[in-house]
Amino acid sequence: MKKLKILFLILIFITFLLLLYSVLYPNIVIDDNTIAFNSDEKFEYKAFNLFTDLTNRVTFDGNIDSGVVGKQTVTGKIKYLFYHVKKDFSIYVVDNEKPIITLNGEKDTSVCPNKIYEEEGFTAFDNYDKDITDKVVIYEKDNSIVYTISDSSGNTDIVRRYIKYEDKDEPLITLNGEEEMYVYLGNKFVDPLYIATDNCDGDITSKVIVTGTVDTSKLGTYEIKYEVTDSSENKTEISRKVIVINRPTYNYYGNGVIYLTFDDGPSYLTSQILDILDEENVKATFFVTSANDYTRRAYNSGHTIALHSYTHDYAYVYSSIDNYFEDLQMVSDRVYNVIGIRPTIIRFPGGSSNTVSRNYSKGIMTYLTSEVVKRGYNYFDWNVDSNDAGGDIYNSGNIYANVVNNLSHGKTNVVLMHDSGSHTATVNALRDIIRFGKNNGYTFSAITNSTPVVRHGVNN
Ligand code: ZN
Repeated sequence: MKKLKILFLILIFITFLLLLYSVLYPNIVIDDNTIAFNSDEKFEYKAFNLFTDLTNRVTFDGNIDSGVVGKQTVTGKIKYLFYHVKKDFSIYVVDNEKPIITLNGEKDTSVCPNKIYEEEGFTAFDNYDKDITDKVVIYEKDNSIVYTISDSSGNTDIVRRYIKYEDKDEPLITLNGEEEMYVYLGNKFVDPLYIATDNCDGDITSKVIVTGTVDTSKLGTYEIKYEVTDSSENKTEISRKVIVINRPTYNYYGNGVIYLTFDDGPSYLTSQILDILDEENVKATFFVTSANDYTRRAYNSGHTIALHSYTHDYAYVYSSIDNYFEDLQMVSDRVYNVIGIRPTIIRFPGGSSNTVSRNYSKGIMTYLTSEVVKRGYNYFDWNVDSNDAGGDIYNSGNIYANVVNNLSHGKTNVVLMHDSGSHTATVNALRDIIRFGKNNGYTFSAITNSTPVVRHGVNN
């Protein structure tokens, strides 16, 4: 019986020891095992036994690198009384930040109804994956373009670009020639026409509706209306005033000579001009900027080849005396190479009365007009301006009128016209001008050094 009692006491004692062991056992637990990527967050842990908080006795082997996404392992250790506890923990570095899509261009954009939106581009950037633009997925939905991106940790971004298919802009009508035109009684009125463009439809010249007529048999003011509507019903309407005026009367005295002069050639129009001059048996003067086969043909036909400018660039020509003469020499060289002579008759770019030269070199014309004469040149301006380099560039009717209206039997008529691209209207007016001259007792001649000079006043 006594033996049994002892055994029982031993048993109680062992139970007590086991109980003591377990209630004193220091336990380490991780409360939060995630750390944000690239942050200085720490994982949270604690240690305790049944009686005491032992957290401050814990040490860890191994470091967590927050710059590396994924699972990492550390070992927690605690020494307490007779315990040596070691425990491995998994810590997770996670990327919680969403990538960002940035759109080029506007988020709200208008596109022509007949066009498709042309992507202006975008970028996608993630804090962990860096540039992931190539992973953006695009689709169209409800008049918007949707851009979505997902980073390697499954964080997403979504942005939209809203597209309005609309055309709110009116088309544009551009008139060739002047908005106000003059026609002589009995002359034919020729509309110099127009161009119509639209931001969405492009060239819609063919859709222009022209109304109104000009009765050139009656003096008066007439209106021609030009109207065009684009495919989105935007409408533009403009008008041109045409005024029919009396033909001026001329004084038929003296025996005025007409000197037709053509500046800025040779061009693709030169051969047409030469054809007309040949057919009408009229000699003229070409103030050239270069020389080619047409120049040779003109020279061989008895026209005068005179010098104008090689560059025709005011900023260059008039920036110094040296530049002016260098430019003149260049055109002279070209003429010499083609026809073997160096012309002495010249015309200043812009004429001797030009006011543009003073912007580059004040007073230069005063010097040049006397210097060219000293160097053996003879310069000519004009006293009949066809205005074919002005507002009437496309209007052969006006070019004709400008010339014939200003001819006089009492003067040396030096007529300014142009022989360069876009001066088709000049070519179209030429024969009528010559016919007018012939019918009104004029003769035609090419300028020579014995022609009475026509010069403007220097105005710089
Ligand atoms: Zn010129």
